[in-house]
Amino acid sequence: MKIMFLGAPGAGKGTQAENVSASFNIPAISTGAIIRAAIKNGTEMGKAAKAYTETGALVPDEVVIGIIKERLAEEDCQNGYILDGFPRTVVQAEALDQMGIEMDIVVSIEVSDDDIVERMSGRRVCPACGASYHTKFIPTADGVHCDKCGAELTMRKDDAPDVVLSRLKVYHELTEPLKDYYQAKGKLKLVYGQEKVEDTTRLTLEAIKGNN
Ligand code: AMP
Repeated sequence: MKIMFLGAPGAGKGTQAENVSASFNIPAISTGAIIRAAIKNGTEMGKAAKAYTETGALVPDEVVIGIIKERLAEEDCQNGYILDGFPRTVVQAEALDQMGIEMDIVVSIEVSDDDIVERMSGRRVCPACGASYHTKFIPTADGVHCDKCGAELTMRKDDAPDVVLSRLKVYHELTEPLKDYYQAKGKLKLVYGQEKVEDTTRLTLEAIKGNN
């Protein structure tokens, strides 16, 4: 089973990818998380990627395509996987095609720009384990620390309001055309993001199982 999530930054792709990963027992692969870990660890790739992510720009295609090729070659991907945040450009989608990879379904999570801006201001992440929360939609037990590892939560630098607007612009210009790309292949399903995470997960699972 190969599932791809499209959607604006903050639409809830990562959260849905994790929930679907648990349901199907296949890994959720987030290029954003791989890049953030590389930045944190100070690797060469991380150093090169840092300036792009901090301003809301995309990391160059060849770098991200290299990351995904390496990750998909790993053992845990042999029975399928979920792509969260890749591809983000038509060049990246074409690279997947050239690798001979065909998705079973592409789910685009639809959320309006106004709602995205509101959601991003409440997003919190765990700097230690990478878990993602939201002050209103996915609160932690005490509102301050990670439920999984206890570290104090922070905001992502690229969730600052001005960077969010740049990221939305990049999404509409470079990533949204992928909806047409996968529509033309007959793979696209739209899922409208709901207030409650579990409602979006239900709609997402229905879309994957072909019930809507
Ligand atoms: P995300 O966590 O998916 O929002 O990604 C965070 C940041 O990582 C993005 O704003 C980009 O700078 C970079 N990034 C993640 N995935 C990609 C991709 N497929 N292509 C280019 N840049 C990416």
